[in-house]
Amino acid sequence: MTRTAIITGGGRGIGAAIARRFTNDGMAVAVIDLDETGARETVAAIVSSGGRAIAITADVTDEQQVADAVTRTTAELGAPTVLVNNAGILRDNLLFKMTLDDWDSVMKVHLRGAFLMTRAVQSHMVEAKWGRVISLSSISALGNRGQANYAAVKAGLQGFTKTVAIELGPFGVTANAIAPGFIATDMTKATAERMGMDFDDFCDAVAKETPVRRVGEPDDIANVASFLVSDDASFVSGQVLYVAGGPTV
Ligand code: NAP
Repeated sequence: MTRTAIITGGGRGIGAAIARRFTNDGMAVAVIDLDETGARETVAAIVSSGGRAIAITADVTDEQQVADAVTRTTAELGAPTVLVNNAGILRDNLLFKMTLDDWDSVMKVHLRGAFLMTRAVQSHMVEAKWGRVISLSSISALGNRGQANYAAVKAGLQGFTKTVAIELGPFGVTANAIAPGFIATDMTKATAERMGMDFDDFCDAVAKETPVRRVGEPDDIANVASFLVSDDASFVSGQVLYVAGGPTV
């Protein structure tokens, strides 16, 4: 049976790697992104290597766009029973300089987005008596200078995940969070730029501090997501898996 997955923010970075991996695993995938070009590129690469995928331009913070995206996925690929809440943004600043807009935009994309998407997809999972929800948390959930907004949402997603696991577990649905360390993507490139550092130097510095002596790649996260949505992981639920090249304190 072909399962249908929705990956938010799948136009690049970690989301694109998860979309590619899930299609290699045999799923049909809807790639949702704000950025139409990114979503189309991810899908074109998947389709050209024989996978089944569609690109949907939508903002995960918009209730109607979320509903429309799930309706379109269901019509074109089949009812979605796998969801990855991956769309994310950064608006870093020290607390005394953080604007209300910096705070609200980060709350909206990560928390409101995950809530709207999960609520819209859960009925398909409950009906199928099988489902998988993965949300992208972060090591920043443990606290990180300049990220009061981001740390709060990434910790919030852990509580959200555990609650979804409790509420939907009786229907064969698991919910887990992946909390990555430093992964080389446009998001971390933007952080290097903001700090006035060359990206390669930034990665070298992070690698030196990481027990496995390298930074993460998007596929490191896709590999873990692939396991968590598999049937082999049906007894793993409500967990937060830190994927950071070493232990986190
Ligand atoms: P990325 O390269 O910045 O990709 C994020 C994607 O999400 C972008 O394509 C972006 O579209 C999309 N997006 C943003 N807001 C959206 C919205 N409202 N609706 C739909 N799509 C939206 O980020 P990444 O590094 O791959 O990170 C993916 C996830 O992992 C995020 O949740 C991030 O917080 C988390 N994470 C990343 C790291 C890391 O080191 N990279 C570490 C821990 C956790 P636009 O291009 O249009 O903005």
